[in-house]
Amino acid sequence: MTQDLESQTDAVAAALEAVTDRLADKKTYLTDLDSAIGDADHGANMNRGFQAALEKVEGSDAEEPAELVKTIGVALVSAVGGASGPLYGGSIMSASQTLEGGITAETSVAFAEAYLETVESRGKASLGDKTMVDALTPAVHTYKKSIEVDELEPLEALGKAVDAARRGVEFTTPLRAKKGRASYLGWRSVGHQDPGATSTLIILEELLAVATEELNGEVEVDAESDVHPDDVDAESLETEADIESEDLKAGETDGGTVGEGEGGGGGEN
Ligand code: ADP
Ligand code: MG
Repeated sequence: MTQDLESQTDAVAAALEAVTDRLADKKTYLTDLDSAIGDADHGANMNRGFQAALEKVEGSDAEEPAELVKTIGVALVSAVGGASGPLYGGSIMSASQTLEGGITAETSVAFAEAYLETVESRGKASLGDKTMVDALTPAVHTYKKSIEVDELEPLEALGKAVDAARRGVEFTTPLRAKKGRASYLGWRSVGHQDPGATSTLIILEELLAVATEELNGEVEVDAESDVHPDDVDAESLETEADIESEDLKAGETDGGTVGEGEGGGGGEN
């Protein structure tokens, strides 16, 4: 967060690369979810869009994170048809303005809020309509509250936001879809996890992984001259373990887990 604009721009590019790789891994999983309540293209859409964004970013001479984030949004809009292209891409484009001047705790909250607002105004979906909004809303609200009220560090706030998004994804399964293609199925959409909420969670999970790496990288550089580099690693592992055990608890309470292939049951139930 204290990096200069050039390093922040590099960090955005690194995050995009990681997200793109993860979405490529999850392509079949997302498409399976979409085959149950949509037209079986969400994995392909996300994969195509992010590959296109990565190409644009690799050829970009952007010097500021806002510029690069905008490039990602533009690429997604032009490469992805369907509902998710304009929703993801248009909202990233529009929210990118909040990052002008650099990424700080404050501008990251502004970005998250602007992104959610644009998704809502473009898609006209509300919480409970069984869309990406159901993962995004709790994530954004949790992130904002964690930073502004609980005064957590952005990385910790992001961890909480990911947990909130995961619960949001679980929440989509019993819902009847009110927006998007899945709404055509009426009650038959009940019992299936929403693909767009799931891709939102996957992206947030990957952003958390990248942010954790970046931060640990920074700490390790500092720690080289220090005598306790091992303590730093142990601490970061502990944070991850805490997050995992919270997930397990959430999974137990709700009677299931979500997100890594098993939770959605491949969409064939
Ligand atoms: P399409 O539905 O056009 O085939 P995708 O399969 O790529 O597009 O994306 C489907 C996802 O888009 C859904 O799972 C849902 O999360 C999201 N979605 C669809 N319509 C809306 C909407 N109006 N508002 C918010 N999200 C939506
Ligand atoms: Mg689809």
